[in-house]
Parts: sequence; structure tokens; C-alpha cells
Amino acid sequence: LQPHEHVVIIGTGQAGVQMVDSLRQNGFTGPITVVGDEPHTPYQRPPLSKELAGSSSIVPLPLRPEGFFDQAETQALLGVEVTDLDPQAKELKLSDGGRLSYNRLVLATGARNRDLPIEGADLQGVHGLRTLDDAENLHTALSEAWRVVIVGAGFIGLEVAACANKLGKEVTVLEFADRPMARALTSSASHYVAAAHTETGINLKLGEGIASLQGQHGKVTTAVGSSGEQYPADLVLIGVGVVPNTELAENAGLKISNGIAVDTQLCTSDPHIYAVGDCTTFPNHFTGGPTRLESVQNATDQARYLGALLVQGNDDDAGYRELPWFWSNQGGVRIQIAGISAPGDEAVLRGDPETGKFSVLCFRDGALAAVESINAPKDHMAARKLLVGDTSSLSREELSDPETDLRKLAKSIR
Ligand code: FAD
Repeated sequence: LQPHEHVVIIGTGQAGVQMVDSLRQNGFTGPITVVGDEPHTPYQRPPLSKELAGSSSIVPLPLRPEGFFDQAETQALLGVEVTDLDPQAKELKLSDGGRLSYNRLVLATGARNRDLPIEGADLQGVHGLRTLDDAENLHTALSEAWRVVIVGAGFIGLEVAACANKLGKEVTVLEFADRPMARALTSSASHYVAAAHTETGINLKLGEGIASLQGQHGKVTTAVGSSGEQYPADLVLIGVGVVPNTELAENAGLKISNGIAVDTQLCTSDPHIYAVGDCTTFPNHFTGGPTRLESVQNATDQARYLGALLVQGNDDDAGYRELPWFWSNQGGVRIQIAGISAPGDEAVLRGDPETGKFSVLCFRDGALAAVESINAPKDHMAARKLLVGDTSSLSREELSDPETDLRKLAKSIR
């Protein structure tokens, strides 16, 4: 990247804002423009589903202090959508009628909620949660609702369920799979989570999909499960996952594969265009294949990596290979995941779930591959160190013994 080159970043989420920061921190002095279709000062998404029960209004947590873009000498076009990308002309069309030329383009377009193609999905009282606007609408609706039905027992669904429960609502969660968070957690952790929510009074219906939503006078009144059972509802939250925002890239002819496909250096099929964060499918060192992650860690670390690479360059660079990690707070259940487990992994308990505090160690081909920690933050922090080291000398007996200090062990192998 030459100092005179114009870098344009699309998206003002976690990845886009970090990209600005990383370019400047690495010493880039050239022009930067960031374009984001949300009108708000960039904010953090994680609190939106975790702090719905806390205060009388949603107070967004900014991603950076006030004045950040000015200090970073960056032109920020907020509330402006990029509607077209012409990679030959290296030019963007904007929703305000403007055009923007770039030398290098970074796509940080993130993801949006997956629509549920069922009858009644457009009734009043049916919500999704991705943006600050969504959170404000949901927060207001929650204050007036009594019976809350949540479709999908994933991260967002269960976080909102825990908040609604704390607010004293009657909460039902419908989950198609036979256990909650099945995509993210092993069955031991998943079953613990199910029991913990059930104990607090949440009605968790497993193996129950959603067939339709029924309403009166345009407002939702009932969720009909795939079993035919009817669940009265004044508020429905759909939390069935997200789809990556790839249309701009796809229309420009870039390679797409469940996300915008990039190589290990986060470059798309066009050598002047990169992609970072939720919108990106990249060759993942830890899964051994093309992977798309939805996490603050991945969005932040990819932007950090790319900022350094573009400014400093690095010929013998091994590519982006930061350890993935995730978290979720669901009432009294704090879930932290380091690494990515796979269906065939052997799961070994460290600690006793009965105590409400334990970890699940996942072994693949004999080596530690992922660690899920429930209310065990020390295990999680140690796991993040262990998983980037060579753990082949450590026995699973030693690792799974709750008396073993994992932090010390991590230091010993580094
Ligand atoms: P995004 O945050 O989606 O930002 C992309 C931005 O680009 C958006 O503002 C979008 O509107 C904009 N955009 C898209 N297309 C265009 C265009 N054509 N023109 C202009 N702008 C465009 N992760 C965790 O790790 N831990 C958590 O606890 C956690 N909790 C979460 C809770 C909630 C409620 C939500 C919604 C997400 C949560 N996540 C969590 C996920 C995390 O927030 C995302 O992984 C992260 O925000 C991804 O950042 P990103 O910049 O890649 O994408």
C-alpha cells in the first residue's frame, strides 16, 4: 500500500472500524474513507441482546470514543449505502447519488438476520435483533409484552430469553434441534445450558420448529409449532441465524462461497479488494477448511491482521491464523468457547456440571482442539493460550483434572 493510495472501507461495524484503526496504527498516512449504511455512531452489538433487562432505555456502547474518525483523519459517510461496485473502474456508487473511487477496497459488510419464510412473519410484534434500531424496538415491545416466544435456541435467542425471563415475562423458546446451541456446543455443555434455562422457568421446547405465526388485527397472538401445538404470544423474537452480506461482491463478480471468499491473506478474487469479519469465508487454520465465523474476535483480529499486512507488508507471512473464541452471557450462565469443536471430537469433562462450573475439553486426533467453559473464565483464558501452543506432551488426564492449574501448564509449553 502506497501512501497516496485511497483506501475505502465498506461497513462501520466491528471489522470496518477496527480496519481504520489498524491502518493508522500501522502508520498509513494516505486517505481513508469508510461508508456505512447505519446512521449511528458505530456501536457494539454484543450488549444489545444481553442488557435488555438492565435499564429503562438502550444505551449504545460506542466502538470508539467520540471524535475517533476525525482524529484518524478518516472521512466517514454514515447512513450511506454502497449500491454498486465496479472492480474494473475501481469505483463505487452510493445511495446518496455520489461516486467514490478507490485504490484498495475492504469489504466489512457483515451479516443480516436470516428471514423466516413462514406465514405471519410480517405481523406486528414479530422481531429480529441485529442492529441498534432492532434493539430499541425490541426493548420497547418487551416492556409491553407478557408472553414472549423465541424461535431458535442459539446465542441471540437464549440471551434474549434470559433477559425476558429476568423481566418476569412468560418465556417459551422453540428449538428445532434436540438441544440448544447445537451448532456451537458439545452435547454436555448444551445439556447443561438447557437445564439451567429450564430451572429458571423458561419453557424450552426442543425438537419443536415453527410452522406459522397467527395474529389478530395485524398483531401477533400465537406461534404455531411444527408439532401443531399453539403458543400464545404478544411478542415473538426470531433468532434463526444470519446470512452474510455478499450481494455487492457477488454482483461485482467476486468469488462467493457462503461468504465472500478470501485467501489466507484475506484478499478476495480481485487483487485490490479484501474482506474481513462476518461477511468473509476464509481458509481456517483451526478447522482445516473454508470457514465463516460470526464473532467480535474474528472481525477484530482479521482487521488487525489486514491493517498490518497492507501497511507493513510481509512476504513470508503465513496468513491469518488467530485462534477463534466466543462468549455468551445468558442470565447466570456464562459460556466461553476457545477453538472450534467438530462433531467427531472426543469430549472430556473438566470439573463437575453439578457445581455449575466446569469445562468440556474437545480432543481431535488425540490433541486438544477446543475448550468450552461454563462459568469457568480461568479455564477459558488458559485454554486460549494452550490452544495456540503444542499440547502434544500433555495428557488428557492431566488437562481434565480440575486440580491441574491450566495457566501454569500453558506457560510451561509456550
Ligand atoms: P457487522 O457488525 O454486521 O457490520 C457490518 C456493517 O456494514 C453493518 O453496519 C451493515 O449495515 C453495513 N453494510 C453492509 N452492507 C453495506 C453496504 N452495501 N453499504 C454500506 N454499509 C453496509 N459476537 C461475539 O463474539 N460475542 C457476543 O457476545 C456477541 N453478541 C452479539 C449480540 C448481538 C445482538 C448481535 C447482533 C451480534 C453479536 N455478536 C457477538 C456477533 C458480533 O457482533 C459480530 O460478529 C460482529 O459485529 C461482526 O462485525 P462485522 O464488522 O463483520 O459486521
